Amino acid sequence: MGKALDEKLEPSLQTVIQRNPGETEFHQAVREVFESLGPVLAKYPEFGEHKVIERICEPERQVIFRVPWVDDKGQVQINRGFRVQFNSVLGPYKGGIRFHPSVYLGVVKFLGFEQIFKNALTGLPIGGAKGGSDFDPKGRSDSEIMRFCQSFMTELWRHLGEYIDVPAGDIGVGAREIGYLFGQYKRVTNRYESAVFTGKGLDWGGARARKEATGYGVAFFLNEMLKVRSEGLEGKTCSVSGSGNVAIYAIEKIHQLGGKVVACSDSDGFVHDKNGIDLKLLQQVKEIERRRIKAYADRSDASYISGGSIWSIPCDVAVPCATQNELNGNDAKMLINNGCSAVAEGANMPTTPDGIRAFLAAGVAFGPGKAANAGGVATSALEMQQNASRDSWTFEYTESKLSAIMEGIHNRCHRTAEEFGTPGNYINGANIAGFTKVARAMVALGLI
Ligand code: NDP
Repeated sequence: MGKALDEKLEPSLQTVIQRNPGETEFHQAVREVFESLGPVLAKYPEFGEHKVIERICEPERQVIFRVPWVDDKGQVQINRGFRVQFNSVLGPYKGGIRFHPSVYLGVVKFLGFEQIFKNALTGLPIGGAKGGSDFDPKGRSDSEIMRFCQSFMTELWRHLGEYIDVPAGDIGVGAREIGYLFGQYKRVTNRYESAVFTGKGLDWGGARARKEATGYGVAFFLNEMLKVRSEGLEGKTCSVSGSGNVAIYAIEKIHQLGGKVVACSDSDGFVHDKNGIDLKLLQQVKEIERRRIKAYADRSDASYISGGSIWSIPCDVAVPCATQNELNGNDAKMLINNGCSAVAEGANMPTTPDGIRAFLAAGVAFGPGKAANAGGVATSALEMQQNASRDSWTFEYTESKLSAIMEGIHNRCHRTAEEFGTPGNYINGANIAGFTKVARAMVALGLI
């Protein structure tokens, strides 16, 4: 159980739980936002009159579909595909697609719900959505991945469009998958509609710095949080969980800003490299060879720990970049006891409610994912801008925009937390600033 909710919000949470049985991650994400909203409803009674809370928890549209495909052995495989279009008052639906065996409606809905507020925080005109499949890409050949992506898009295309819904990548979906998905969309629609997908390859409409944006953005956000405490990343020892897209570029930017990342992981174990993670080796192992993180230790002086918690390694700063609920209350206590003073979430909802409570009680600077990892979707919106104007910006220009956006998000969260009487609480700041913007638009656009 978390802290008690405002008396107006408790019945709404119970309704969400009853109407969406078994979707525990969705319940967790809703509760976490509701915990911040009591003072907002008191300040803006019109949100209650217009039933914004009840409406915002109900997706505008949910699509669930069969994805049949044939594997390399000629066997028929059936997966389930999802797209939850949560809210479009600020712009076309926007949010990634995840391929992972753990994907079910509750995961897609928690991600879609978070995405509404994250996208609002960027200040850019994008609504919130998320999608995916329980397909497991691990160990699959390129042809299998292509056939799966083509089958997935053969259904999903009818729900997409540059003014309707614009997906991107997420766990298990990178440039290779986006290529196959976009290719099939182009084929069945007979349109070269670049802005219907973001995270595209640079040769076919992608934006420079999009691949790096989520990880870079997390490092920028972290640095801003440290600046408030008259500190910086310079000289800080960091642990970054995961070793995928977000983790790799968070590590790169933390190193550029003077920090030293000594540990990263995958779902099998973690590596501890006291000299600092060698980014080139990490990219070779993960991006080029698509191997397990153990291969990094096999080729370096780093130690590999199978299983176990990456959070047992002492660090000044922790950056969870793998998946939801990967950092629990015990992990948080270990980090705090080892002197960790700041956490920035690269993944979505990686810290459990227990973990969050422990960090806040210990005065750790805590940047929630919906603020700290918003650089990815923000740069996706910049990719849409470039596609719409048939333009292509330089890496440096795009990165400078990203850096300014992250500073803006940080300051908005910081200011809002102060305004609502909880200085330094970025969770409240992010939830209140994101929600208020969406709620105002929902009132303005009427009962839709
Ligand atoms: P990738 O697929 O590139 O990498 C995921 C990494 O996390 C891998 O190292 C993977 O290890 C690990 N991981 C995944 N699931 C688990 C699990 N159940 N337990 C332990 N480790 C796990 O995904 P991304 O880097 O794109 O995404 C990581 C997180 O960041 C997700 O929460 C995503 O929603 C979030 N995010 C991503 C954005 C983006 O632009 N890509 C934008 C904003 C947020 P293994 O290979 O063993 O599965």
